[in-house]
Amino acid sequence: MPNVLKVIRTVDSLRRALEPYRRPRQHIALVPTMGALHRGHMALVREAQRRAKRVVVSIFVNPTQFAPHEDFGSYPRSFAADIKALREAKVDFVWAPSAETMYPDGFATHIAPEGAAKASLEDEFRPHFFGGVATVVAKLFTQVSPNLALFGQKDYQQLRVVTQMAKDLNLPVKVIGVPTVRESDGLALSSRNAYLSTAERAVAPMLYRVLKGCASRIRSGEKVDHVLNIGRIEIDVAGFALDYLEARHALTLAPVVSSKDGPIRLLVAAKLGKTRLIDNVAV
Ligand code: AMP
Repeated sequence: MPNVLKVIRTVDSLRRALEPYRRPRQHIALVPTMGALHRGHMALVREAQRRAKRVVVSIFVNPTQFAPHEDFGSYPRSFAADIKALREAKVDFVWAPSAETMYPDGFATHIAPEGAAKASLEDEFRPHFFGGVATVVAKLFTQVSPNLALFGQKDYQQLRVVTQMAKDLNLPVKVIGVPTVRESDGLALSSRNAYLSTAERAVAPMLYRVLKGCASRIRSGEKVDHVLNIGRIEIDVAGFALDYLEARHALTLAPVVSSKDGPIRLLVAAKLGKTRLIDNVAV
């Protein structure tokens, strides 16, 4: 039984380390991350510990989900601090493969998700993104073979894509979505918040305020299109460059006209200076 956190770097040693915990009822939970851990990640860890006997946190900044012009090179990395936080949280295993371990020379297989991955939300602005995410998550699922895997609702489209992929490929992993952890002013925690200047940080919570306002107006019966148009103006006036603010079916991410079309999720992405923020709420 591990009582100290074990950092694992190769697939063989991962399999060996987890082998003793695969017996019935010894549930293994996986929390996939790109490191730069914050309270949002730690909420996933706590939920994993609540649901499973052993917890594996993966830390891998996945190059294939970044486009060449995006922030792969400058993405925040804080491995030593991450390990310290995970040790204090009594996590059992950290799976931290190198890029060469994940994508050795000759690597030639990619997953191309459709459905929620082609909803014209994140995919419109980051066309390479969900292919990269689906491929790395499929690899993580087969490497770790967890009974369950926890993802944040903060990345809502990603949660839907991964859930669908696990279902479509019959991967024996239960995918669980964990509610978004926020700062006291409502800003969703994100590793990329570190990029915000002081002035931008002061404006950033506006995104969540607009989402909540839109959700409550739709709940009170106002027309979805009208509410979204006002929301888009509010975001624009606050100084963001809006990528999208949309109302979608909470499960399929298909467009919706009114609450009669099913449970609605509002999703937003906008840039504040150089920082791109995303958020979402249930209606
Ligand atoms: P990342 O390291 O940004 O790829 O995120 C790893 C996991 O943490 C993903 O499942 C995210 O959705 C989740 N996550 C990131 N930020 C938050 C947050 N503020 N609240 C809850 N989960 C989060």
